[in-house]
Amino acid sequence: MSETLDMPTSLDFGEDYPEIRDAVRKICAPFDGTYWQKLEKTDSYPDEFVEALTKSGFLAVLIPEEFGGSGLPLRAASVVLEEIHATGGNAGACHAQMYIMGTLLRHGSEAQMKQYLPAIASGELRLQAFGVTEPTTGSDTTKLKTRAERDGDEYVVNGQKVWTSRALYSDLMLLLARTTPVDQVTSKTDGLSVFLVDMRAARGNGMEIRPIDAMVNHNTTEIYFDNLRIPASSLIGEEGRGFKYILDGMNAERTLVASECLGDARWFIETATRYANDRVVFGKPIGANQGVQFPIARAYAEMRAAELVLRRACALFDAGQPCGEDANMAKFLLSEASWHAGEACMQTHGGFGYACEYNVERKWRENRLYQIAPISSNLILAYLGQHVLGMPRSY
Ligand SMILES: Cc1cc2nc3c(=O)[nH]c(=O)nc-3n(C[C@H](O)[C@H](O)[C@H](O)COP(=O)(O)OP(=O)(O)OC[C@H]3O[C@@H](n4cnc5c(N)ncnc54)[C@H](O)[C@@H]3O)c2cc1C
Repeated sequence: MSETLDMPTSLDFGEDYPEIRDAVRKICAPFDGTYWQKLEKTDSYPDEFVEALTKSGFLAVLIPEEFGGSGLPLRAASVVLEEIHATGGNAGACHAQMYIMGTLLRHGSEAQMKQYLPAIASGELRLQAFGVTEPTTGSDTTKLKTRAERDGDEYVVNGQKVWTSRALYSDLMLLLARTTPVDQVTSKTDGLSVFLVDMRAARGNGMEIRPIDAMVNHNTTEIYFDNLRIPASSLIGEEGRGFKYILDGMNAERTLVASECLGDARWFIETATRYANDRVVFGKPIGANQGVQFPIARAYAEMRAAELVLRRACALFDAGQPCGEDANMAKFLLSEASWHAGEACMQTHGGFGYACEYNVERKWRENRLYQIAPISSNLILAYLGQHVLGMPRSY
């Protein structure tokens, strides 16, 4: 392996879609560590990077050809995000479009698909905001309090969302809100609905977006709805079935986030290995010490094992087979494998791990997120415990 380590992303991962990997690496090349560091300093959105990715068509790989996308399987989208992260970049600024678009595709009307999908595919419209999490209910999604009440040809929305990423850089938002009060439904998962909100019309007319100052430059916000009126035609699918629609999209989301973790793990392992080979202390490369070498080797083994679960999740998803178990396990295992790789990379760099110019501390902070969002590791374990192993529910 060591002779291939002349630059990041050289680990031999080219077996699946080598031409996509190559093209994505070329797009990412100008957006190096210095680019991402500068954005952090000014808390800015990576406009140029997102623009380049949009123009290349890679953000629209999952949109069917008839709507202007390339109609590729999830396996291809997974490779796109993996490569972005393996080059040291971060797809968090635009990845949501890939998976939230699926709700529109699976449950939207023909008219909604024709109106929005081609414009999303071309980049004319950005669908990057996903409003689910609320400050007082957190992971307990069915208890969310944002209400959308029908009033003639409109819905009136009131409530608050938190951690709605990219809201200031999106034209559309997929919003989950309660349309029937929880005490009037037989199951708490009923009575929630999904809306495609035109944020351009909503801002300043009942919707206020406030940025959250956070540990990573994720351009995340909180959103307040105060009698926001949206056309009834914003409803996706049937009223009251929104929770099911959102769940339908979760497997793609878990799988794609796992792909980003895989890319991070590759970057950490390659960066750590290169430094361990180059840095000479006590007259020899630090990588000659097993205390330095083994954590990197262990992270590599963990990553390669978890990668297989990810590829299986993609294959099942693309074959239309149930893939909840594999998608959840892939996200869980890769969030851990990449974090262990990040820890090894940080420790290998010693004090230089703290120097921003090495990008290790930035990637380390960015990667920590995946054990918490878009779903925390405990909630994945709860899913496996209950739905796969048949143990009692904890909530
Ligand atoms: C940078 C960032 C970006 C985000 N972007 C978005 C976005 O775009 N859209 C969006 O809707 N949300 C977004 N989120 C929110 C994210 O999905 C939530 O933070 C995450 O789902 C966890 O919810 P919570 O923070 O409310 O934690 P809580 O639900 O309050 O949980 C806190 C802790 O308790 C644990 N816990 C809770 N219940 C149980 C249980 N029954 N068993 C065991 N452990 C339990 C959890 O595992 C967690 O560790 C983002 C979050 C961050 C930090």
